[in-house]
Amino acid sequence: MDDVIITAAVTGAETTREQVPTLPFTPEEIADETARSFEAGASIVHLHVREDDGTPTQDRDRFAKTIELIRAKCPILIETTTGGAAGMPDEDRLQPISLRPPMASLDCGSVNFGDEVLINTFGQMQFYARQMAKHDVKPTLECFDIGHIHNARMLIERGMLDPPHHFGLVLGVAGGIPATPRCLQAMVENLPDHSLWTVIAVGGKASALLHPLALALGGHVRVGFEDSIYVRKGVVAESNADLVRHVASLARKMGREVADVAAVQKALGIFVAPYARREPDAKPT
Ligand code: ZN
Repeated sequence: MDDVIITAAVTGAETTREQVPTLPFTPEEIADETARSFEAGASIVHLHVREDDGTPTQDRDRFAKTIELIRAKCPILIETTTGGAAGMPDEDRLQPISLRPPMASLDCGSVNFGDEVLINTFGQMQFYARQMAKHDVKPTLECFDIGHIHNARMLIERGMLDPPHHFGLVLGVAGGIPATPRCLQAMVENLPDHSLWTVIAVGGKASALLHPLALALGGHVRVGFEDSIYVRKGVVAESNADLVRHVASLARKMGREVADVAAVQKALGIFVAPYARREPDAKPT
């Protein structure tokens, strides 16, 4: 796909208002910030939700309300997290899947995450993949290291993931693969043929280095307060939209247009009209 897919990760689970005062917490704030990111060029929102005080939660009702507000504002593709926050049990992490969002993240292995550990055993990964298939949710295969790409390959070989595959390559987590050009190149070289991939660079320095490289290599880019709060060195962005605009402008300077929602749906094989509401399950998964 020549055009670049920009994903906005507008709040995450770890970023704080001490770091960025405009970080969205409530469903209304997250929906507003998502709409601004859409206007700036994002075609996918990677969605976490928070309590009003900023505590990360995987609460199904909170997701449902946020998704409804987003859908009233713009046709962006919604990718709910199933990573949640470190230490959350599977039942919590999977709660948004029963709402049948078009996309969701699927963590492809365990990784140290600062002083915490994100645990994703092979059994868990298969369970998550099955739940997503059951609810017709397209996974973004999040890989924090090269070994995770091979875990995803095992799921593919077992027929648990339908092509086209979309990988989220996460570089720069303290405990995961470092955010260097050589490491990104190595990850890309290890992907299954014909995969689409989005770089997720953690931190301002990593983003400044790897976003242009991903664009040059034909990849796609995720930005937002979840990953980095800096629009350039030392300058904190006021809105996620500033970060999206920056990547869109970089892409255009490098000769790539920004993909719209319809083009992304076609490329990822997501057959649901942007505004269509799929009925959620009556009960959680
Ligand atoms: Zn996330």
